[in-house]
Amino acid sequence: MSGAGSAPQTRYTGRFAPSPTGPLHAGSLVAALASWLDARAHAGRWLVRIEDVDQPRCVPGADTVILHQLATCGLVPDAPPVWQSARGALYQRALDQLVAQGHAYPCACSRKDIEDAQAALGHARERHAALPYPGTCRHGLHGRAARSWRFNATDFKQKSAPALDGKAQAATDLIANNTVHWTDRRLGPQQQDVALTVGDFVLRRADGLWAYQLAVVVDDADQGITDVVRGEDLADNTPRQILLQQALGLPTPRYLHTPLVYAPNGEKLSKQNGARALELSDPVQALAGAAQVLGLAPPKNPQAGVQEALLQWVAAWPRNYNGAP
Ligand code: GLU
Repeated sequence: MSGAGSAPQTRYTGRFAPSPTGPLHAGSLVAALASWLDARAHAGRWLVRIEDVDQPRCVPGADTVILHQLATCGLVPDAPPVWQSARGALYQRALDQLVAQGHAYPCACSRKDIEDAQAALGHARERHAALPYPGTCRHGLHGRAARSWRFNATDFKQKSAPALDGKAQAATDLIANNTVHWTDRRLGPQQQDVALTVGDFVLRRADGLWAYQLAVVVDDADQGITDVVRGEDLADNTPRQILLQQALGLPTPRYLHTPLVYAPNGEKLSKQNGARALELSDPVQALAGAAQVLGLAPPKNPQAGVQEALLQWVAAWPRNYNGAP
């Protein structure tokens, strides 16, 4: 970050935030390596947060395996990891604030209620396409019992949230006519009308679990994250997260979404389509595979160990992803 001018300076803090639904695979290592390299290239801190809010999807012991895999690859966090499952009080406080400000409301709709309301509006569900919530409970429950809590994404009025520094302000915080505009360090200018695309999204689920969107925004702010570096599949969550940051008066980090690794069937690599746990008998080879996806050359020295390889990539990183746009 530049030291010029009077903008407040915040030390670069990045993070890797795996969901412990299984061990790291070739795809998740790309996000882990990219976030670590970006932090090191900025002489910043790198944190690990275990995103275990969606308990039914978590696999017992996967968190320990992931931390071990990261350490084997030389990716060691600068502070002890945090677990989202221990942070419910923070999420509750944020939800209370949103409710008090009129940004969140209780919802009584089941999945079937929502589908029926969408059908009544004449919206046919396309295969795999999620339709926006039709807003049934936005103005009251009409005697029905609350199941979940939603963020009111319609008619969102921009609040002046603190910027991390001049660059962050210019890169993101722009909400006009309900459309969030932001600039990704790799993908360039992006925009989304959240109300139109996803509608009033869930903050707390009917099963009582916290939604990813709320937990990630609260934690990124609480941990002082200045730079989010993560897989491109998460890019379309960013506008929802910016809306929440604005509503809660929290700073908006810079964002860099990294290329994905694809399975032979063309889908994003995941456990569901056969991604295998990383083969870590040769961590340099596993890292070199991730580095290649990020446009980084293999280690010059064929005998290089993990530390030497990582140093080479830290030095090369700014040429590929040199800071904020
Ligand atoms: N826990 C999310 C995942 O593993 C990543 C969230 C994030 O980086 O914002 O897909």
